[in-house]
Amino acid sequence: MPQYKAPLQDMRFLLHEVFQAEEFLSPMAGTQELSTELMDAILEEAAKIAEEVLSPINQSGDRLGCKFDNGKVKTPEGFRKAYKTFAEGGWSSLTGDPEFGGQGMPKSLSVLFEEMLFGANASFALYPILTNGSALALNLHGSQSLKQKYLPNLYSGRCTGTMCLTESHAGSDLGMIKTKAEPQDDGSFKITGTKIFITAGDHDLAENIIHFVLAKLPGAPAGAHGISLFLVPKFSVEESGEVGKPNGVSCGSIEHKMGLKASVTCVLNFDMATGYLVGEQNQGLACMFTIMNYERLSMGLQGVGLADFSYQVAGSYAKDRLQGRSPSGSENPGQMADPIIVHPDVRRMLLTMRANIMAGRALTLYTAFKLDKVKFSDNPAEKESAGKLVELLTPIAKAYCTDRGFVDCVTGQQVLGGHGYISEWGQEQLVRDARIAQIYEGTNGIQALDLMGRKTVKNGGELLAVLLAEIDDFVSQHNSLKGMEQCLRSISDARKTLTDTTEAILHRAKTDSSEVGAASYGYMELMGCVLYGYMWARILATALSYGAGKYSESYLDGLKKTAQFYFEKSFPRYKSLAEEIASGSGSLMAMDVEQF
Ligand SMILES: Cc1cc2nc3c(=O)[nH]c(=O)nc-3n(C[C@H](O)[C@H](O)[C@H](O)COP(=O)(O)OP(=O)(O)OC[C@H]3O[C@@H](n4cnc5c(N)ncnc54)[C@H](O)[C@@H]3O)c2cc1C
Repeated sequence: MPQYKAPLQDMRFLLHEVFQAEEFLSPMAGTQELSTELMDAILEEAAKIAEEVLSPINQSGDRLGCKFDNGKVKTPEGFRKAYKTFAEGGWSSLTGDPEFGGQGMPKSLSVLFEEMLFGANASFALYPILTNGSALALNLHGSQSLKQKYLPNLYSGRCTGTMCLTESHAGSDLGMIKTKAEPQDDGSFKITGTKIFITAGDHDLAENIIHFVLAKLPGAPAGAHGISLFLVPKFSVEESGEVGKPNGVSCGSIEHKMGLKASVTCVLNFDMATGYLVGEQNQGLACMFTIMNYERLSMGLQGVGLADFSYQVAGSYAKDRLQGRSPSGSENPGQMADPIIVHPDVRRMLLTMRANIMAGRALTLYTAFKLDKVKFSDNPAEKESAGKLVELLTPIAKAYCTDRGFVDCVTGQQVLGGHGYISEWGQEQLVRDARIAQIYEGTNGIQALDLMGRKTVKNGGELLAVLLAEIDDFVSQHNSLKGMEQCLRSISDARKTLTDTTEAILHRAKTDSSEVGAASYGYMELMGCVLYGYMWARILATALSYGAGKYSESYLDGLKKTAQFYFEKSFPRYKSLAEEIASGSGSLMAMDVEQF
């Protein structure tokens, strides 16, 4: 049974060398204390949890799944013990607010931990990651008394959190939700309605579950502007902090699904459950976006983490499996055949995976650094520009990294041939577990629409201009670095294609109401492709200018060769994407409905 290994070397190289975390974090109050040694020590301990506690119960969790019996959910064997170890180790509070018992670590560190969680055991990862997202929303939007009452228990792992948005008739279009909130004399609300597809909606891991529920107040405006956010505990919580009586929240059933079998997905019934308003009335969607944006970056990490595990399995399999001979003659004369890693097509698969994984890890980390700037910097101009980049990058990190993650897992499965299709090697589980990340937290189609509509067309490309200025700076700073010539030429060409394409879309959108929707998916892919190129350019520049130190010649050489592969074999896709976008909406809208 293959076991996950945390990619510590790659993570450290990105953190310390490419993004120079120490230089970045040290000027900001709140992250000043983070030395290289402390960051590395945290990553090493995180790797132990992932490798020794979570990975060993990944395949059994998939086989056994969650069970629903007599209104109660039971997680697979081993999950309760693992959760206890996780919570007691303080891992639930890593990025939490120190005022309420959190450790105040930056996002740039926790994204690496989250990637490890997803790689080792994606089902398990969702329990703490949803909890972190809900704690963040409560901390930003909740009243002081709600924070005091609930945050310490979310950070300690005594409670977990959920996000309850979806209803049977309202998925992407949350404006249609029907769950009701009736105001009570004591300032609380009675929540009534049914939510579906709620991850971690019920389970046996923690004492209590704190639901963050979207509902409508009487007389609220129609649509998305009439939604409020409520905190609804599964069990009421006494003033002492002790767990009290059931609060009118019950699990109606659990879903039987393609993957993530050990992560429970529930139908939740709220029957006059007591809830508390979080944020302002009718501003619930904006508050919920705090959770959703956090989770969207995490979903990108689900793609990267699972793809990395798939790559680990595929890479070692390709070195062992003997089939056929190398095109240049036998490389293994004593044996009947050569290992399949000699074949150019197998190398294509492995290198595609390696290039995507490293760039995806870099992109999620880069986004996390921008989030840290927004949170910890006291320089308003820096905060504003980082905030713009976070807005632009989040839908790309979600959609592009999960699309690549799924395809990479399928590619990893392909490297194993028939052995990838059977359960023993774990590849088919990774494919099943990766698939959902393209769907939940807003489908990738909706992410692409957000990127194209709200984040680009609506502001005339203002957010994109911040990114382009950063890329231009990078290009001019590395113009004279030997070995960067081909890469910088490619980046500059792609930058021009991206700006030309954006301008053409902005122009067509003035007269064609279908243009934004027609261009959006291709545009998200174009942006993703260019950003992966920018990440590889940064990795290559760092590898080329690295003197002697912690990283071996062979490791640095491997990075340079993967960069060359990316720019020659993957990056040119931006040209065909631009061509596809340029054709506009005509062929998409030409068919009559009955012709489908
Ligand atoms: C395993 C699992 C776990 C989940 N966990 C949670 C959870 O914890 N909390 C929660 O609230 N929800 C959760 N969900 C729900 C999930 O977020 C939704 O399924 C998702 O947002 C899509 O909604 P939908 O399924 O209703 O699809 P629909 O909204 O019906 O979409 C169907 C298709 O139409 C497309 N589409 C819809 N509207 C547009 C548009 N305007 N323009 C272009 N295309 C459009 C979509 O992209 C999609 O391809 C979970 C779902 C699953 C399967």
